[in-house]
This record gives sequence, structure tokens and C-alpha cells, in this order.
Amino acid sequence: MKKRILNTFFLVPKMMKAWVMMVSLSFVATVGLVQAKDSPFHMIKGNAEQGGFVVLAVEPYAKVDYKKKQVIADSDGHVIIAFGRDDKPEQHFKIISITGEVTLATIQIAKRHYNVQEINGLPKNKVSPDTKTRDKIWIDIKKARKARKINLATPYFENGFSWPAKGIISGVYGSQRVLNGKPRRPHFGVDVAAPKGAPLLAPADGEITLVENMELSGHTVMIDHGYGLRSTVMHLSKVNVKKGDKVKRGEQIGEVGMTGRATGPHVHWGMSWFNVRLDPALSIQQNTKPGDKVSP
Ligand SMILES: [Zn+2]
Repeated sequence: MKKRILNTFFLVPKMMKAWVMMVSLSFVATVGLVQAKDSPFHMIKGNAEQGGFVVLAVEPYAKVDYKKKQVIADSDGHVIIAFGRDDKPEQHFKIISITGEVTLATIQIAKRHYNVQEINGLPKNKVSPDTKTRDKIWIDIKKARKARKINLATPYFENGFSWPAKGIISGVYGSQRVLNGKPRRPHFGVDVAAPKGAPLLAPADGEITLVENMELSGHTVMIDHGYGLRSTVMHLSKVNVKKGDKVKRGEQIGEVGMTGRATGPHVHWGMSWFNVRLDPALSIQQNTKPGDKVSP
């Protein structure tokens, strides 16, 4: 890896100069995107902030190395990269042109603040699962991980996003959950409380890559939106789709429920770019708060 960067330095000093300039620019730039005049990329759309994803335009068919992942831009040069809950303000990535030129690029992302959410009264076996339950959870995790490795080349996400159910926001992305007094991993999704049996709609176009009844998330459906981006909806009482189905945004894929670990009927909507957990609410509106009324 070191050798490669060194080669880049000697072969394309101009690129390095641009990179150094961008890095120094990023120190003076306010929150947002660093776009030097000769920036090797520009932002098409998205949210340059923790938990957000951006659609970038680079050279057509260029490779982008980011977070130990390599993605390839399409014929328009479009590619997606995304930012985790606790990512640092400056994110560096590498753009490799079809001729092999390597450019180091920096994107500036906004920091967010997360709250603490306490949930009490959960059945003990769901908070501290027994060995048998833990084995089942592990099988579920492996299935989900496999589905998150898929890299569909169809830009389903381009048709936009909408809420998967009509209801009230009951949980937001990033909050630190304390279950029965024990700190757990942050909440990686947004919860919409709705009555059991309420229509559950696809939040965006895509292909169904996973349909499972899981220990913690109950009836779970994963919809792949292409370019590494996908949604997962959980706790459904009824599922109307199967693996391999293609769905359109707003199409009913099931019904809201409270299967798995849930204290009331709601849909947990998670989003990820490969294994990076994102805030689905950002694809629709920023600053979503508990109590907000939402509608597809
Ligand atoms: Zn949730």
C-alpha cells in the first residue's frame, strides 16, 4: 500500500499537489463539500454528513477506493460513497482512472449529535439472550452480512425515497439505546410507529435480496437500491414479496407489525452502504425528531 502511494507521488505530482491543496482547503472550509477548481469529483446529490450517503461524479468507469471497498463508477461517472455514525469530519478516498492514474480526494462531512434512549420492560431473554437464541441471532447476522455484500449495477436509488409507512417517528438514527439499564449498540435506523396491519411500502425502487423471519428483527425484508445502497424493514406482521422480486417505490411489500424484539407495532427502517449503517431519514428530510408525523 505504501509503495503504491509513493509511486503515485512520483508519477503524478500534479495530482498530489491538487490533493495537498484540497486538504489544506478543507481546514478553512466550513461544513460541506471541498470542491477545489480542479477537484477530481463533484457531488451530484446526497448528504455529506455522518450517516449520509452521496452520489459523486468522477471520471466514467473510474474505480473509487474507500473504507477498504472498491466501487466502480458507471458510464456517467456516478458512484456512491457513504459515511458512518462516528466518521471523522475529513474523509479521504482514492480515485483510480481507467488509465491507472491515482488521485487522492477529500470530502468534508458534518458532525451530528445523538441522544440517549432508555427502554425498559423488555423480556429478559431478548436483552440477554440464552445460548440457543444467541446461535439463532448469529445465523441471522451471517445471512444479513451476505446480502449486504451484493453490489447491484442498477441505479434503483435514482427514483428517490419515501417513508415506508404512515405513522409517527418513535426512534431516530444514532441514538444510544439503554435496554433494561444496559447500554447497547446505537440505533441504526429510524422507527415509524403505525398500527399493526398498516400497509408497509417499499421506500425506494429495488430488488428484494433477503426475506427472513429473524430472532430480533422479526419478519425482515431487504431491498437493494443498487450501488451498494440498501434498505431493511423489520418487525413486519405480513410479507408480500419474495427474494428476487423487483419493487417500485410506494409499492406495498407487507404489513406493519411487532414481530421480533419490539415493544409495539412499528417499522424499523435501516439503510446501509455495504456494511456502513446509514440514516434513512436523511434521504427524505433532515432533523427528523421523535413525534414527527410522516407519510409515504
Ligand atoms: Zn428501530
